[in-house]
Amino acid sequence: MAGEPQDDCLFCKIVAGSIPATIVRETETTVAFRDINPQAPTHVLVIPKAHHKDAAALATAAPELAADVLRETQAIADEEKLDSYRVVFNTGSGAGQTVWHAHAHVLGGRGLQWPPG
Ligand code: AMP
Ligand code: ZN
Repeated sequence: MAGEPQDDCLFCKIVAGSIPATIVRETETTVAFRDINPQAPTHVLVIPKAHHKDAAALATAAPELAADVLRETQAIADEEKLDSYRVVFNTGSGAGQTVWHAHAHVLGGRGLQWPPG
């Protein structure tokens, strides 16, 4: 069910602490941790603690929680002293989504091309 922890979800396991991660920030509703395969000097994932399969599902089911995630992306940028950065929500396998628990990628610390690949 939307919002409930899923036994087979990697990011639910990071929230539960049963899989380790380099956590850089935590709030009552969100966790932010470093991506294990960084694509930029700063590459942090911000996730809601509750399980939603992607950003659109999160925004529909829990808009205040979606806002919490967005607010935390700015907090990461501030902590990492990024004046320019990119927030990415890969949505669907064709766009590169591999983990089906909503997450924002915060990327920065290098020049970022547009359009993205
Ligand atoms: P996406 O491909 O948009 O679904 O993003 C999933 C991201 O999770 C990828 O950038 C992976 O490198 C990252 N990732 C996978 N496993 C872990 C892990 N155990 N700890 C941190 N990041 C991870
Ligand atoms: Zn999950």
